[in-house]
Amino acid sequence: MTTVAPGGHIGILGDGQLGRMMAIAAAEMGYFVHVFGPEEDSPAAQVSHRSTVASYSDQEALTAFAKSVDVVTLEFENIPTDTVEFLSKVVPVRPGAKVLEITQDRLFEKSFINNIGIGTATFANVESMEELIQAVKQIKAPAILKTRRLGYDGKGQVKITGASDLDKVWAEMKDTPSILEGRVNFKMEVSVIVARNPAGETAAFCPVENRHKNHILDVTLAPADIPDWLAEKAIEMAERIATKIELIGLMAVEMFVTQDNQILVNELAPRPHNSGHWTIEGCATSQYRQAIRAVCGLPLGDPARHSNAVMKNLIGDEIEAWGTLLEDPENSLHLYGKKEAREGRKMGHVTRLMPLTQKPKA
Ligand code: AMP
Repeated sequence: MTTVAPGGHIGILGDGQLGRMMAIAAAEMGYFVHVFGPEEDSPAAQVSHRSTVASYSDQEALTAFAKSVDVVTLEFENIPTDTVEFLSKVVPVRPGAKVLEITQDRLFEKSFINNIGIGTATFANVESMEELIQAVKQIKAPAILKTRRLGYDGKGQVKITGASDLDKVWAEMKDTPSILEGRVNFKMEVSVIVARNPAGETAAFCPVENRHKNHILDVTLAPADIPDWLAEKAIEMAERIATKIELIGLMAVEMFVTQDNQILVNELAPRPHNSGHWTIEGCATSQYRQAIRAVCGLPLGDPARHSNAVMKNLIGDEIEAWGTLLEDPENSLHLYGKKEAREGRKMGHVTRLMPLTQKPKA
């Protein structure tokens, strides 16, 4: 298994804020980062040693990129698996194509999770009007119809109630392969971020609570206010998933906590995650440094938190509050270098720490 020592070159597929924070962590640890993504002057390229602006199908650009680095990782899970397989002929890609094949498709992802003994919402595959009718009979409303691939932040999702006109719903999906999921009456949404290195060691951050606004993460509270036994169970599940999927790198496991304290897994994201931004200030090892350690084959760092934390995303024009936020010296403000504050766009975030004895409040 390749170890990439400090001084080595790390390629990152994807050029957004997660790539930016990973590139900053890599530079702090003595690495050189080469970012590959479609956008000119992107958040990640702004802070990296090198950048290539090209499409994920540009084989000439991919070959040059692969030859310039010692290992490749990603900040975005919807990188085409063909791209990853192409690069893998030249350089290790961590996490690899197998992890992406599972996590890019909600049907494969949920089936994999159930097969290793972990619960999810009930679900059924839907590829036609007839299958939708059958699925609604089996799963029962209320339910959510989601495209199997390429959905995020609530995109590609339709709520199904007893009153839904299924013909109209299916016409809107335009025959896109989908799954119907039973709606979970959760009391809290949590996530666990877990790292696994090539030696098979795992390390998980504490479960955190995630609150959404308009389907986009708004606030993360670290730690989640759940009993210790439940937190341990959530961590055990995340570590089991990382091991069984043979992850090398970092993965966020998004979960629902039901009214009767069951944990159901909603989604896997094999990369640093928005709900782990707080670890930059709150933990001995941030999720970004942990990702770099894992993909470079180094021993993992200590994920323990030394403080509790609240992270607030700055979405769209919320960024305009930067001046006021800076007036409070306890705010750690992070801005992503995006020029245009479009609606729903993640522009930055602010983290506040508090003692371990104090409950984090939104
Ligand atoms: P997803 O794109 O699957 O991460 O879903 C986005 C958000 O929609 C989640 O964070 C939940 O708030 C909500 N959601 C998704 N699936 C379900 C479900 N089966 N039951 C209840 N809420 C859900």
